[in-house]
Amino acid sequence: MKDARACGRACQFIAPDYETMEQRVHGGTRGGGDEHFFGPFQAMYRAEMAPPQPGAQWTGITTSLAARLLETGQVQAVLTMVPDAEDHWRPKPALITQAQDMAQARGMRMGYAPLLALLETAQDRGFSRLAVIGIPCQIYALRALEAELHLERLYVIGTPCSDNTTTENFHTFLDLLDDDPARITYLEFRPDFKVELRYTDGRTRMIPFLSLPISDLPRDFFPLTCRTCVDYANSLADITVGYMGGQGAQWLIVRNARGAEMLDGLGDAVRLTAPTSAGRRASAVKGFVANTARAAGGLPLRRMPNWLRPLVSWLQPRIGPRGLEFARARIEMKAAETILHLRREAPAKLKNMTPKHVWRIAAPYDLRPTQDEQPPRRNGQATDVRDGSD
Ligand SMILES: Cc1cc2nc3c(=O)[nH]c(=O)nc-3n(C[C@H](O)[C@H](O)[C@H](O)COP(=O)(O)OP(=O)(O)OC[C@H]3O[C@@H](n4cnc5c(N)ncnc54)[C@H](O)[C@@H]3O)c2cc1C
Repeated sequence: MKDARACGRACQFIAPDYETMEQRVHGGTRGGGDEHFFGPFQAMYRAEMAPPQPGAQWTGITTSLAARLLETGQVQAVLTMVPDAEDHWRPKPALITQAQDMAQARGMRMGYAPLLALLETAQDRGFSRLAVIGIPCQIYALRALEAELHLERLYVIGTPCSDNTTTENFHTFLDLLDDDPARITYLEFRPDFKVELRYTDGRTRMIPFLSLPISDLPRDFFPLTCRTCVDYANSLADITVGYMGGQGAQWLIVRNARGAEMLDGLGDAVRLTAPTSAGRRASAVKGFVANTARAAGGLPLRRMPNWLRPLVSWLQPRIGPRGLEFARARIEMKAAETILHLRREAPAKLKNMTPKHVWRIAAPYDLRPTQDEQPPRRNGQATDVRDGSD
């Protein structure tokens, strides 16, 4: 960014103001029901591309939405990440101008790269109708800068993001998972509590979450910013394309008219059904919160005995939270994690970094702000959220 001060204003991890931004972008802030968890929306779906797009992380809805915008001329360019030429796990920002080139962007990469730096290139090249695909921290910054970009049209496609880490750290994780990590082409944390790996020779492998070598990773594997992110579901995108509420399919959150317009553009190429929900999340979230509190307090995690792991791994996808209930569980876990990690590692930042909606989500698990932790007043509104409401 030429203007370094813009970074302070645009960063999600300083003093995010989701309420004002949701109002500006969607014409209203999150209400009750599932908006309490996932942010403002008009409609939610289970969805899949028919047929699925080769090389996509799931079925390729994200890159297909953008390809369609290019095909129809609604945008002149799409700002997104492609794989680095030397290391396909490393994201590299790119401005794509041809629909067929969206295929290069398919798939998930782990790491950080300065996506929004190319906004200046886009301006220099005279693009005034733009689409951006990004994870929540990128989309927050984009929305904060949107007015200054003076674009004729902006389409924002978001994906959820639980945690990210450096590409170097991610390679350490791959090394722990496999003797020949260079052959791994795909990795996903699936909502059926398994990690799926795919290999160059077409093989696939499923590893239950409980068997992952998480305890072998350094404590700072995920940076504090990711551990304390307050926008898992990418609430400022026009449309969020994820999987965690999709019970095996993709999960779409259409947030506003522009999101609906993009989805309409795919026509019959995308199959939509109503989202499903099953199981109960409360005990899974309670267990997670207790364990996170121990870890954040420096105590060892309570580990499950090895003999019990296969049984629990078998039971989890069958009786654990599924579909929207799984997504609600993950959002609650993330809210609790934000509060517990900030309390432990950066208590002075908690007040400004943790918006009201996060306290409301965490309230059922006895996580409420003390007097010093109350979010600041914004727009003259009182913000006492100690009882989980305001
Ligand atoms: C670090 C990370 C964590 C995620 N965690 C979750 C989660 O917990 N729950 C959930 O439901 N979904 C999560 N997602 C999104 C999920 O992996 C899929 O990308 C999404 O469901 C879209 O699938 P698709 O087949 O439509 O994507 P595709 O059509 O294959 O397109 C994927 C798009 O993601 C972009 N992309 C890939 N890597 C990055 C990156 N590092 N930074 C920015 N953009 C990138 C690509 O450029 C491409 O435009 C995460 C994504 C990332 C990058």
